[in-house]
Amino acid sequence: MDSSEFRRRGKEMVDYIADYLENIEKRDVYPDVKPGYLRPLIPDSAPEHPESFEDIVKDVERVIMPGVTHWHSPYFFAYFPTANSFPSLLGDMLSGAIGCIGFSWAASPACTELETVMLDWLGKMINLPEQFLAGEAGEGGGVIQGTASESTLVALLAARTRMVRKVQAQNPELTENDILCRLVAYFSEEAHCSVERAALIGGVNMKKIPTNEKFSVCGKALRKAIEEDKTKGLIPFFFCATLGTTASCGFDNLLETGPICNEENMWMHIDAAYAGSAFICPEYRYLLNGIQFADSFNFNAHKWLLVNFDCSAMWVKKRADIIGAFKMDPVYLQHEHQESGTVTDYRHWQIPLGRRFRSLKMWFVFRMYGINALQEHIRKQIRLAHMFEDLVKQDERFEICAEVILGLVCFRLKSTNRTNEMLLQKINKARKIHIVPCHLRGKFVLRLAVCARTTELSHIQYAWEAIIKAAEEILMDERI
Ligand code: PLP
Repeated sequence: MDSSEFRRRGKEMVDYIADYLENIEKRDVYPDVKPGYLRPLIPDSAPEHPESFEDIVKDVERVIMPGVTHWHSPYFFAYFPTANSFPSLLGDMLSGAIGCIGFSWAASPACTELETVMLDWLGKMINLPEQFLAGEAGEGGGVIQGTASESTLVALLAARTRMVRKVQAQNPELTENDILCRLVAYFSEEAHCSVERAALIGGVNMKKIPTNEKFSVCGKALRKAIEEDKTKGLIPFFFCATLGTTASCGFDNLLETGPICNEENMWMHIDAAYAGSAFICPEYRYLLNGIQFADSFNFNAHKWLLVNFDCSAMWVKKRADIIGAFKMDPVYLQHEHQESGTVTDYRHWQIPLGRRFRSLKMWFVFRMYGINALQEHIRKQIRLAHMFEDLVKQDERFEICAEVILGLVCFRLKSTNRTNEMLLQKINKARKIHIVPCHLRGKFVLRLAVCARTTELSHIQYAWEAIIKAAEEILMDERI
């Protein structure tokens, strides 16, 4: 393909994408295929000779689309949202074309510098304390990680190194292994499984902290766990607070847990993967109060801020903590400016070496929407969630299972777990809407998250009708 064909095919591809997104609601949101459906549809090995673009596009409809779960359908209400917007797609296209690997400043200065400035822009949008911003010579700063899971892992590993060094400085006779086996990480029983995974990968002890009736970790519960462990000779070193838990969108109490972490010299990381985007609205910013106690903070702009996957924004108060933990400096990665103190080499902030030019899509989104429109997007989705909550509350066969704070509604039939499991199965089997469940205090609960950018009240009403239709069929079968 030469550049003139690329121009033509590129325009056709843009048309295909625009048609796909414009007409997405005509497709069943959830695919009707069985595992292994794809292999028989395509040849066993790659073609020896070139094939035409037309044939490939035909196969997208024949092979790919039947097996796609349409995350951007307004009938998709599962998990949490993943962002999608036209400005972001354009930014990503350019990133693909530049195709640089920005592991160091010198490997592509614009890739590094735009990222640092975009993370400052975003930090200001959510009113992060100054210490988290890079500015021109700040000690903190932001980085784009691929996912919230990576951010938690990076924070935990940096915390581990910081504590090992601190204990060794006070007790030079102790080996690293003597200390590692005494370290304990804490997180909510409601934390995302990626937090537990980070502790497993980091090879440290871990303890889940019980939550209160709002699915929130409070200071007393964290304090109790820490004191118990200290009497056993263990070393508390890390607490991951969650803002917006995956099951019910609960918020840990930062104002109580933060000072405890500071007193105990523990690293406090905040995982706000979904909820973080809402903090751009001043009326939801209170949920982040207590951020001043944290060492690191992360949220997925790729969830709710109209920047396509992957774009997980992470900030640290002291960049030295994170850079110092992972620094590797072989000669082939060095460059003339690295000791100047004025450049950022992002390879030291993350696990992989390679990194894409992801800040371009942020830049496009922030400029083409502007903060006001992004705030309006968040507010609209929260309003829709409350409208769905009202529909549930008006039907006395159902109950709301957790306070609705942002765009997630947890609800169930006032019945057994078995009945609710059957309800979920029936809803998803119909393929008209898609939702996923969670467990809350042993109860099987259905979650409806407002996801697609194009979701309107009519889609919410349609979803509710699909739910009550399924519920009535199940309740009828139970009566027979
Ligand atoms: N943390 C929370 C609170 C989440 O809800 C999720 C996913 O929804 C994650 C972490 C994991 O996100 P990622 O896929 O970016 O690792």
